[in-house]
Amino acid sequence: MLQTTTQTRIALQPDWINVIGISFFHLMALLAVFPAFFSWTGLILAFLGNFVFGTLGINLFYHRFLTHKGFQCPKWLERVLAILAVCCFQDSPARWVAVHRRHHEFSDEEPDPHTPIRGFIWAHVGWVLVKSPDASRLELYARYAKDVLRDPFYRKLEDPRIYVGILALQCIVFFGAGFLAGILTGSDLQGSVLFGASLLIWGVFVRTVFVWHATWSVNSVTHVWGYQNYDTGENSRNNILIGFLTNGEGWHNNHHADPRSARHGHRPFEFDLTFLTIRLLALMGLVWNIKDTNLIAKADLAA
Ligand SMILES: [Zn+2]
Ligand SMILES: [Zn+2]
Repeated sequence: MLQTTTQTRIALQPDWINVIGISFFHLMALLAVFPAFFSWTGLILAFLGNFVFGTLGINLFYHRFLTHKGFQCPKWLERVLAILAVCCFQDSPARWVAVHRRHHEFSDEEPDPHTPIRGFIWAHVGWVLVKSPDASRLELYARYAKDVLRDPFYRKLEDPRIYVGILALQCIVFFGAGFLAGILTGSDLQGSVLFGASLLIWGVFVRTVFVWHATWSVNSVTHVWGYQNYDTGENSRNNILIGFLTNGEGWHNNHHADPRSARHGHRPFEFDLTFLTIRLLALMGLVWNIKDTNLIAKADLAA
């Protein structure tokens, strides 16, 4: 049960795909403690995967592109980035966008889907494990994600068979690549299976769990601890640890002050690898019309 400030009680229904999936991924990630599953290739894949899937898929695409329209890019790149984001198991593009837009509309008020005023654990992961207590998926879509769902590609990703199919396919690809590499380099069957399992555990499960907690920390930690560059009227904060851990998403108070800007780091030390990546893609001609405002720089110019 969830107790709201108005003392009404809402019966919470578990979101079983998320409950089972998130528990399963955490258990599988724990297998990384066994030396038999360790490989340097697996560790490197987890590290690179944090950038490829987390930074490109979630930060750059779900958040700065699809939710806030911070820049434009070609359709083919949009599709590729959407698949990378789906591989992060953070729900479909329309659902992610809808929840996040609702967060911006009601930041740290009762309808905010993951405000820490309902408790830190709720803000971090609790809200993911239950069906939205305030608004159904369809209600959320009607209000916040019509633009996303106009595109048949995103409507297809709403089909649970396709969504889960993509998640399963990445597991097969990581395991299969490791197994094949083992066979081709002369390992026996057991060695090849172990190498495949290593790439799967580190490259998919450890990476996904890391990216989850990084993203969730933006919802929980950066609405509780940190400093504010701007008086935004809610509890958003810039948090140095989360800023670096998420490659730029932790400069969250800056983001709340100017949500459309693709630039989240406003002060020189607020390192924003996601924005630098957007700039690099622009130099390559793959991104244009970047909303590149920096309120601090503007204020300095005006002073
Ligand atoms: Zn926020
Ligand atoms: Zn946002």
